[in-house]
Amino acid sequence: MASETALVARELYRFYRAGEEETLALRGVSLHVERGETLAVVGPSGSGKSTLLACLAGLDEPSGGEVRVAGIRISHRPETERARLRARHIGVLLQTRNLLPHVSIQDNIRLAQRADTGRPAVSARQLLGQVGIAERAHALPRQLSGGELARAGLAVALANSPDVLLADEPTGELDGETEQVVLALLRDRAAQGCAVLIVTHSEAAVRVADRVVELADGRAGSPAVSKTAK
Ligand code: ADP
Repeated sequence: MASETALVARELYRFYRAGEEETLALRGVSLHVERGETLAVVGPSGSGKSTLLACLAGLDEPSGGEVRVAGIRISHRPETERARLRARHIGVLLQTRNLLPHVSIQDNIRLAQRADTGRPAVSARQLLGQVGIAERAHALPRQLSGGELARAGLAVALANSPDVLLADEPTGELDGETEQVVLALLRDRAAQGCAVLIVTHSEAAVRVADRVVELADGRAGSPAVSKTAK
């Protein structure tokens, strides 16, 4: 249903145990992202951002709590089911790490589209056109500039028209100008109805977000200095 909140995390806990050592990476994190909204998640190193992102994407299982995407629970399911739901509903943007190095950009997109999502696939060319690098379809990732790589990674993340886009430091390695381009593309996606969550250290990314959640020691709160109107 289009009115459902696109992404909901309720009371997420994640413990890691190694011998006698127990790390509490997430201690009851709740958040939601609506369609059309951009949420920035900030916090110091070790605060639980990567763990949270992995749980939201269904790449990892929370020890407690639940994650729902487009109204469907993705947590506490077998890995194959989580993968299927992820392919159908979630785009994951991991800096340059979501590109396979030995195949062209166009084939990277086509591989992402091999999952049976039940949605008509947007052509690789169309996607690359939307992110402004249509002419680089046949290039290998190593042949692209940093800015082109960021756009290509975004095209792959958007390959299946996701309800939710999860981005891990999407502008971490970009110069200021390219960062603005990538942030504008993320905002465009939100404007088209996607729920966008950005884990970031970037002030520019925080500025374009509608809301900010700050993680500290595995707990979520509002930033000490609340976001002023854009
Ligand atoms: P951030 O992304 O904000 O830097 P992380 O989610 O990577 O934070 O880590 C949160 C806490 O969980 C840290 O104390 C980290 O050492 C711990 N942690 C993360 N992954 C593991 C793991 N696989 N095994 C044990 N501890 C982990």
